[in-house]
Amino acid sequence: MGRIRHVLGISGGKDSAALAIYMKQNYPELDIEYYTSDTGKELRDTYDLIEHLENFLGKEIIRLPVISDETLNPFDHFVKMYNGFLPGSMSRWCTKKLKLEPFEKFVGDDLVISYVGIRGDEDREGYISKKSNIQSVFPFRKNIFSEDVTSKFLSNSNIGNILKYYELLDLGEKKERIFEIINEQISVNFSQTQKLNNLLDLGIKEYNHAVFQFLQTTDYPLSKEVDFPLVNNEEVLVRDDIFNILEESGVGVPAYYKPIEFEINGKKATYARSRSGCFFCFYQQKIEWVWLYEQHPSLFAQAMEYEKDGYTWIQDESLADLIKPERIEGIKEEYIKRTERKKSKAQSPYLLDILEDAEGEGCASCFI
Ligand code: SF4
Repeated sequence: MGRIRHVLGISGGKDSAALAIYMKQNYPELDIEYYTSDTGKELRDTYDLIEHLENFLGKEIIRLPVISDETLNPFDHFVKMYNGFLPGSMSRWCTKKLKLEPFEKFVGDDLVISYVGIRGDEDREGYISKKSNIQSVFPFRKNIFSEDVTSKFLSNSNIGNILKYYELLDLGEKKERIFEIINEQISVNFSQTQKLNNLLDLGIKEYNHAVFQFLQTTDYPLSKEVDFPLVNNEEVLVRDDIFNILEESGVGVPAYYKPIEFEINGKKATYARSRSGCFFCFYQQKIEWVWLYEQHPSLFAQAMEYEKDGYTWIQDESLADLIKPERIEGIKEEYIKRTERKKSKAQSPYLLDILEDAEGEGCASCFI
């Protein structure tokens, strides 16, 4: 068996870029392979970010080969294969074919630690590979381990072992309280999340060390590591931290996050795009489609060309209908209303507090 590989996927979004910077700055001892899987349909800003990041890292970001046919770009290759059938949230063939399969081919059967940039202020696991030789680790979160590891570690049948792992640690005066929590069975009155949060609140480092001991008894890739520097990580990073990392490193925030002012019926507002991914991604909100139409008309026209034989990007509405002047006006008006409702929260200069509803959707490989 070869060495454990450490990999980090760069989607072209802010969180994975910030994670790459964070890992280089904080864990230079880890030999991380950075990779990206290009659909061929990203905005120019995304490709620029990847180039800036490559300069900062001083390392190649490996472009995973998606298809062998050089004459078509990867997305178009598969649209052709599916006879024009466009992907959607219920049939997301694009993520599978353009992101997950190339990634799984890249790692093969090697044991891999995959670093994923889900932030501490997000409540989701992301759409990640479920192959057993790939273990996901989330350095920005309080709980750096994946859901499956957490469930196995905290299961009631493992209580005796958890006590043993914690017994090896110097817990000081917190020991009694920690042991009380460990001994409490998960039940309808005490959920796994409560148990997890209670233990993390009493010591992130201690929790990580105990889980790491547990992993040594499993087949997870981390069982093959004698030590793992992230077990000492106690930082929890949220959205503002991500923007700070990007700006302070000089890599910069992708231009599509920057708000652009528009005016409708005497009211002024700003719009932007909330994430990376294909410019025609079906996950984008209507206001983002309007943004694409007004800010990148040629890309919008390309997106329209895919809509034929009854296939559309948005359910029940074609892009041709969406750009009718009265429809654009309606979308902008509705967006302004939504923005005003959320005004108390909307302090971010990047509009993400307003567009955040959509941010948690989709896959880790496209948007993080
Ligand atoms: S960005 Fe959207 S359209 Fe592109 S591969 Fe990901 S889910 Fe599919």
